[in-house]
Amino acid sequence: MNTEQNRAWIARDEAAIAPFARVSYFPVALKGGQGAILEDMDGNTYIDLLSSAGSLNLGQSHPAILEAINAQINAYVQYTNAYFYNPVAAEFAEALAAIAPVACGEKGKKVAFGLSGSDSIDGAIKLARAFTGRGKLISFEGAYHGSTFGAISVSFVSHNMRGKLGTLLPEVYAFPFPNTYHDGESAGDTALQNLRRAFDTWLPPGEVAAVLIESLQGDGGLVVPPTGFFEELSALCREHGILLIADEIQQGCMRTGKWFGIEHFGIQPDIMVTGKSVGGGLPLSAIIARSEIMDCLGPPAHLFTMGANATCCAAGLASLRVMAQPGFQEDVVRRSDKMRARLNDMAARHPCIGEVRGLGFSIGIEIVSDRAAKTPDIAGAKKICYRGWETGILMICFAGNVLRIQPPLVITDAEIDRAMDILEGCLKDFERGAIPDSAAQTVMGW
Ligand code: PMP
Repeated sequence: MNTEQNRAWIARDEAAIAPFARVSYFPVALKGGQGAILEDMDGNTYIDLLSSAGSLNLGQSHPAILEAINAQINAYVQYTNAYFYNPVAAEFAEALAAIAPVACGEKGKKVAFGLSGSDSIDGAIKLARAFTGRGKLISFEGAYHGSTFGAISVSFVSHNMRGKLGTLLPEVYAFPFPNTYHDGESAGDTALQNLRRAFDTWLPPGEVAAVLIESLQGDGGLVVPPTGFFEELSALCREHGILLIADEIQQGCMRTGKWFGIEHFGIQPDIMVTGKSVGGGLPLSAIIARSEIMDCLGPPAHLFTMGANATCCAAGLASLRVMAQPGFQEDVVRRSDKMRARLNDMAARHPCIGEVRGLGFSIGIEIVSDRAAKTPDIAGAKKICYRGWETGILMICFAGNVLRIQPPLVITDAEIDRAMDILEGCLKDFERGAIPDSAAQTVMGW
């Protein structure tokens, strides 16, 4: 395959752009795309199984989103929401509040817009501290909540993320997140026991402002919590007046086949944070919580000049309306079930697959060197991703050995069939030793 133009652009990029914001996998410089298909600068085309890290749930260049962006920029691009009122932001906030499964009473819910998932996690931390008057925070090992100082402080996924930065937020405690594949069926009970023991001994629950959860632990390896874990965690929080913050930045916006991932678990968080796809592909995030929580801070406690940007809100509202169309959700569920069935079928035939897990179009595949011992095969996962790139699918691995499969929700049946055929070809090549070790070295990964 020709990669000359890609590599030329990469050389220019690397000379001009700081290295710390890229986790490189393959030499792809993008030229264009439509739906789930992407084209690079050398004219190679791929089926996108990543949706821009989950930030393009409706795929590239969705016509409804393009139309909304065009209409908005023809009226005006943006004007800071800090001074004036922006009808599209108000309309979008109403729509988001209507679908967000957060606990609320008669006073209803309110929304606060930001620019990235990270800044809205910071906002949620500020709100939890202000509302409860408490300082301590609980998060989970493997959690990724973002890159601003507050969000990093509650993230526990990588040394590189937390090193060399000086003092992070104090009083943040990370507990193991239950992983039934590696830790067995009792992983949820063990995790809750850890927490209860901490509350009984060294961590006064009355000083804890909030517990942060991802409905599926995303960058930690798409780990689905065991049945009942969130319900008990939520009850424990309620018992001690601790707020539950659900990070739906990656799993929200229909990624898992429901509006928000947390809906699979039958609980209502106190604060919900969305990002990535909420802006229809433009930079936007939103905190949603009951009004009593939202009203406990005054301006300018969490104010961004570009927050609630009119063009981003227009794109986000258009995206939400597409997802709300009759039949959309059912079709996402049908196609994601079909993809999972193909993957489970492959797992039965390929011993390098330890587990296929996930919800909706949020699917993780553990690549192992020994199925019985569940030994993670990081180099193997990298090789499979690399061969995927060479043969026409874009997928990455994270948490070491977990393949990340999160295609645009608009991926067609034919594209699913083709992507799964290609993936199976990669697994076969890997198992017969046909992917060189150099492929694993090219993939930097996490
Ligand atoms: N939370 C989760 C669950 C995420 O997956 C991410 C991004 N990977 C973030 C927060 C941070 O979002 P952003 O990069 O937009 O700041």
